[in-house]
Amino acid sequence: MGRLICISNRIPTGANPSGGLVVALGDVLEETGGIWIGTSGEIAEKPAAELREIEGGPFRRYCFDLTQEEQDNYYAGYSNSVLWPLFHGRADLMDIHHLYLGVYKQVNRRIAKLVAPFLKPDDRIWVQDYHLLPLAYELRLMGATNPIGFFLHTPFPGPTAMQALPNGREVCQWIANYDLVGLQAERDVRACLHSMIEIAGASDLGAGYVHLSPRQCRIAAFPISIDAREFQDLAEAEFENLPAGIVKDHRRLVIGVDRLDYSKGVPHRFRAFGEFLERHEDWHRHVSLLQISPPTREGVQAYDDIREETEHLSGRINGQFADIQWVPIRFINRAVPREVLAGLYRASHVALVTPLMDGMNLVAKEFIAAQNPDDPGVLMLSQFAGAAEQMDAALMVNPHDPEQVATSMLTALMMSRGERRERYRSLMEGLTTYDVHWWSKSFLDALG
Ligand code: ADP
Repeated sequence: MGRLICISNRIPTGANPSGGLVVALGDVLEETGGIWIGTSGEIAEKPAAELREIEGGPFRRYCFDLTQEEQDNYYAGYSNSVLWPLFHGRADLMDIHHLYLGVYKQVNRRIAKLVAPFLKPDDRIWVQDYHLLPLAYELRLMGATNPIGFFLHTPFPGPTAMQALPNGREVCQWIANYDLVGLQAERDVRACLHSMIEIAGASDLGAGYVHLSPRQCRIAAFPISIDAREFQDLAEAEFENLPAGIVKDHRRLVIGVDRLDYSKGVPHRFRAFGEFLERHEDWHRHVSLLQISPPTREGVQAYDDIREETEHLSGRINGQFADIQWVPIRFINRAVPREVLAGLYRASHVALVTPLMDGMNLVAKEFIAAQNPDDPGVLMLSQFAGAAEQMDAALMVNPHDPEQVATSMLTALMMSRGERRERYRSLMEGLTTYDVHWWSKSFLDALG
């Protein structure tokens, strides 16, 4: 079998690289003598002229540095201030600058130049995420004929949204240079096919195949996941280590865990929780919301705005409802260690996973994997998370409708143990069958 060459924006660093993708790809990289390539996270004075090997670890890793200008325009600019909002249904938040696009293309061209000398004819290349959309196009220009796959971790926009992007047609043309494009959900596959056909004039060959001269490309859904068994064991062990105050607390704990990103719908969630408290005075003091949200992409205006809005809302709701013995919302603006998170999920009665738009949402999967099978908590899941296509035994909600979310919250808090167990069993069965190992294997099998 040929080597796997994985290319992502950030390389997993450290002597023992970790994270979902490492779990998914580590074994294949090790078995095939493969290589992972990505940016180091450090800033250099000059654009990188060569790749640098990272010592140690179970598989080979090569990295390069970005300059400050590249970081600002390729990463914070085109990737996170243009593509991210557009792909999450927020074209209104796009910050279009032609410099962003120019540097984005330049960086991708340079990555292709750095990678091309490493390639052997039978290598399979797997490119990760929206930072690297043009990479196959650039590698093809340099003569690469290898199978090249792409996985997009975000949603994909349909033609109406794509029209708002000045170079939407070019984005579709980049995509056509991959042999296989993996998306999170069937809704994304439909949107991508429509965009390829309507915006770029690709011809529909059926069964997810499109032709855009001179190439043919397959678009299919490969929903990403977690290692559910591993997370279950972690949660079971870590539950014992939680501070006594949390476990002994007889209040019902509702948990929310999200980067503080506008796509996650945290303000909507707070309003819905406020609506619930407004309606159900009998639940005052008996329920509290623990929202754990580390700040992300600080310095970008839309992220500064969401931080201010959530701080304001939690302050207002606490001011309105709290009493000397009870604070309705605990809002923590910090990352917490993975194992603590696992224990907290298990200690929670309800999870509010209510993004306005999300590629997959792994928090939903982690919450379910962490539950005690005998007495599991209830997952309230937005219909706009990619996870909703797989996790239909969750309590499905529309995050835009605070009254519906409040009604569902009562249903979740009052749900019988029998029903909770039934829903949990169905969800956990899906998670253990279609776990992260299934994800990488099925994608790589399809890439051939
Ligand atoms: P996204 O990739 O958009 O952030 P996902 O839900 O798919 O959303 O993945 C988020 C990952 O980040 C999960 O593995 C989750 O456990 C982790 N995470 C989110 N918030 C926190 C936090 N406050 N502390 C630690 N980890 C977090």
